[in-house]
Amino acid sequence: MFVIRKSACIAAAIFFAAALFVSFGISKASAAAAEYARYTVVLDAGHGGVDPGVLGVTTKTKESDINLAIVKKLARYFSDAGFRVILTRKNEGGLYGLPTAGYKRRDMEARRDIIEGAAPNAVISVHQNNFIADRSRRGGQVFFREGDANGTALANSIQEQLNAMNNRALSALRGDYYMLNCSRFTSVIVECGFLSNAEDEALLLSEEYQSQVAQAIFAGTLAYFC
Ligand SMILES: [Zn+2]
Repeated sequence: MFVIRKSACIAAAIFFAAALFVSFGISKASAAAAEYARYTVVLDAGHGGVDPGVLGVTTKTKESDINLAIVKKLARYFSDAGFRVILTRKNEGGLYGLPTAGYKRRDMEARRDIIEGAAPNAVISVHQNNFIADRSRRGGQVFFREGDANGTALANSIQEQLNAMNNRALSALRGDYYMLNCSRFTSVIVECGFLSNAEDEALLLSEEYQSQVAQAIFAGTLAYFC
């Protein structure tokens, strides 16, 4: 019984996500949005300022710029669905103050402080992957903190949507990263694609693909909240 209700809820959540993108009736959308008004999500665009993250193999595009573009789209989707949305980084700059010694640590601690202050139901940290040992590696990959049952469920739910988009069958992975370990809140890192792969890089530079990635993350998150 539970399984049936849960899967019906997931189907409804994914339908709602899809419906938002073709903007169905405002009243219907806002009724559904009220469902999510009790949830807070922190969206974290990785890197920024003097820390560009990885660079695209062909164009040298900065990971930090792609992360921010996807986070801005995500912020709109979650806001439209009624969530309280908190961003760590809102522009190209990092969160470290002056780029003097220890800037990376100050940047990461500022992100942690924002998370602690928001007390969110979920933290989604957006990054792009890099694997120069095998430049054929492609697609979205989600990470969770070992032992975090909610984070694992959220990661699996987002991974499922990314797999559907990329036509792949990857599993979400355990990761030992600061953004997963810095708070007790449910947290995932989404590596949206590989900037070490030329095809992924070209896709990630297109606004249309950035929207598709954001939609997959959003739909996976809604399904998690069922
Ligand atoms: Zn990164």
